Amino acid sequence: MRLVQFQASAAGPRIGLEEKDGGNVIDLNAFDPSLPKTMREFLERGDAALAIAKRAQESGQHILPRSQVTLLAPITKPEKLICVGLNYADHCQEQNVDIPKDPIIFSKFPSCIIGPCDEIIYPPESSEVDWEVELAFVIGKKGKHIQESAAMDHVVGFTVAHDVTARDWQLKNGAQWLLAKTFDTFCPLGPAIVTKDAVSDPHKLGICCKVNGELVQNSNTSQLIFKTPALVAWLSRFITLSPGDVILTGTPPGVGFSRKPPVFLKKGDVVHCEIDELGAIRNKVV
Ligand code: MG
Repeated sequence: MRLVQFQASAAGPRIGLEEKDGGNVIDLNAFDPSLPKTMREFLERGDAALAIAKRAQESGQHILPRSQVTLLAPITKPEKLICVGLNYADHCQEQNVDIPKDPIIFSKFPSCIIGPCDEIIYPPESSEVDWEVELAFVIGKKGKHIQESAAMDHVVGFTVAHDVTARDWQLKNGAQWLLAKTFDTFCPLGPAIVTKDAVSDPHKLGICCKVNGELVQNSNTSQLIFKTPALVAWLSRFITLSPGDVILTGTPPGVGFSRKPPVFLKKGDVVHCEIDELGAIRNKVV
């Protein structure tokens, strides 16, 4: 299933199912008015809510034409928005750093999440805004001290994320990692949370980023150093993972600041981040 949050006509945000990537949307709140209208609350209801969604998918009812629907980020206000750094071997190479022995964890504030077609605001505080396409997974079941062998029981699905980064703040200006990563609008997400049963193998997916149509990142999630089960096990040693938590798994090579000479985004650019089977997000910089 492709779980989405959407807006249709005058109705406020609702949750739904995309029939296929870019397809019509089944209105889950119309199918079952007892369902919550936010993805986080929906996921907090666990397997029971997913079973209702499955029935809605099979019902063939409450289908809205795509032209009437605006997709929002598939989840907004998760409890946690966690990032992994240096998680592709060749991205470590391009940055001239050793491959980490343990996952490197940092975060963004959930307030920087925007939808799959929303605009990225170029902040006046930065002149080096850079792109980073990333595979993100979403937690579906609460857990602490989760073993790798049980990790996937706690993951509901996957989505495409853009870890927009102000390099001047990340690497200069006092190495302000959190601020560099969490300016408003710095986490485009979507278009859907694709449930794990609908993904052939999340660690064998083509992943790419294009800026104004030019391919700038092109890799495969098979290149991830720490894959989803290892990240769930590592993170849950320290923190309780909760339904709706979003974890960005790191970016492949090809980011702007590693180019010679470095290249950064500018107002008017359009960034297209895409992962096989999950879909694409396309965000204009303004
Ligand atoms: Mg990143």
